[in-house]
Amino acid sequence: MKKFENFDYKRPNVEDVQDRVDEIIEAFKRADSAESQSKVIKSFNELSDEIYTASSIAEIRYDVNTADEFYAGEKSFWDEFNPKLASYKTRFAEVLLASKYRKELSDVYGEYFFTKYEIEKKIFDDSIAEDMIEENKLVSEYHKLVAIGKVQFQGKEITLNDITPYRESVDREIRKEANEAYFGYFADNVAEFDKIYDGLVKLRTKMAKKLGYDNFVQMAYDRMGRSDYNPKDVAEYRRQILEDVVPEVNKLRIKQKERLGIENPLYYDYNLKFLSGNPAPKGDSDWIMKNGRLMYDKLGGELKAFYDFMEGHELFDVLSREGKKAGGYCTFIPEYGAPFIFANFNGTQHDVDVLTHEAGHAFQVYNAFREQELSDYLWPTMDAAEIHSMSMEFLSWPYMDLFFEEDAEKYRFSHMTHCIEFLPYGATIDEFQHVVYENPELSPEERRRAFREIEKKYLPHIDYGDNEFLESGGFFFRQLHIFSMPFYYIDYTLAQVCALQFWKKSREDREKTLQIYTELCKAGGSKPFLSLLKIADLKNPFESGNIKLTIEPAIKYLNEIDDKKM
Ligand code: ZN
Repeated sequence: MKKFENFDYKRPNVEDVQDRVDEIIEAFKRADSAESQSKVIKSFNELSDEIYTASSIAEIRYDVNTADEFYAGEKSFWDEFNPKLASYKTRFAEVLLASKYRKELSDVYGEYFFTKYEIEKKIFDDSIAEDMIEENKLVSEYHKLVAIGKVQFQGKEITLNDITPYRESVDREIRKEANEAYFGYFADNVAEFDKIYDGLVKLRTKMAKKLGYDNFVQMAYDRMGRSDYNPKDVAEYRRQILEDVVPEVNKLRIKQKERLGIENPLYYDYNLKFLSGNPAPKGDSDWIMKNGRLMYDKLGGELKAFYDFMEGHELFDVLSREGKKAGGYCTFIPEYGAPFIFANFNGTQHDVDVLTHEAGHAFQVYNAFREQELSDYLWPTMDAAEIHSMSMEFLSWPYMDLFFEEDAEKYRFSHMTHCIEFLPYGATIDEFQHVVYENPELSPEERRRAFREIEKKYLPHIDYGDNEFLESGGFFFRQLHIFSMPFYYIDYTLAQVCALQFWKKSREDREKTLQIYTELCKAGGSKPFLSLLKIADLKNPFESGNIKLTIEPAIKYLNEIDDKKM
């Protein structure tokens, strides 16, 4: 088996690509039958796969070692080349949508194929190319401002990332100091964060207007590829969260308070779930990977075969090293049919998430690639993509003893608690962005005030004590999606609601549920969100009453556990 380190990388020649796109477009126009147009669609696919292969390899090799001069150069190349790819896609969309054989082609590829290109055409036009570069710059400024963030903590200078474990410390004084220091950074740089966000809101509004939208909201929905629900459906969904989930979360918060024995918990107490500390894996990175291998053996069938492939080709880079980029993700290398998992293990339960959540994404794309003819159908929209990852977190529940040993139940309890508590938080982030982009003239202060009001509605337990910055609505500065991926956040909650249904199904019939899960993964992005749900017989989260039905069994599970012993 060829290992990732031996995968070939070749930077595409820009003029060649340009010529090939021109040829493809001409060939499509000339093609005088559905079959010959179909052939051209395939060559466009091949070209996309080729480019995607090179860009993925370059991205990974740079991320695992940002000091590598060769790949740093390649990264600069791709930063410039990537925006051009959007314009190729729009050009192809134009000829495709004008096809005389649309009926025949949609019989083969599905009408959704055309829907996808219709959206593609709506969200891009040369008139916003410069604005998009500017948008990327502002987003990079945000990331940089957070990445360079350092604060004074216990007499030492420490990065925002390194302070994380202290923010969950079992010692309340340490926890308090760490959280004050952490949010202090955002408070000290309020003018900078305001400037970046205000710039982004104005810029995105301007782009939306140029493209003929009323405001940025629908443009953002289109960018997310949402084709079968709209802001009204999402508002109804948030209403269900407010009415059916918020009261349950309030009860969970009371339980947490009793468990921790804190009379009046404040904002810095919420992340600590147990006085004995949050559950962590009981061994080092090698041990975690070894047990991950065991887990996939036990899961068996197609999951085992997939894991053999991942290991055989060495498609993981999970150890934290100097010079390695922060964070984690799963990407794909089409010409090798290979997913790749990138992570930075840090000794917390998130290390295990890499083997469940990221591996869920990898399993999906691995299967969709083998099942779907078109690379356009490789990945679904994010609302559906997070179902694969979040459901894998649940499907692997029976094996959590491998990582947490005697704390496995504690892990499961905290995982489930987090899933329920997460829904109102996600609704907060989403509603806030609707308010912001529907009212782009709001001042930064007015935006913060709006954020705090929405928080009070969905997260009534929050008490910021004497922290004026947070009380004035500054918390959202730390939520990077608000800056870099507008309107993405609700997708996590939609997927969570679906993953909870997989959890329930898997407790009733494990084998059958794994099979349905695999079917859903194979469908990849060949259908829009609500149609994908039908494949797995999942309830539509936008329909009134479905959220209540979904969370009930989870709440029952949590109530049956004697959490005071944990
Ligand atoms: Zn994910």
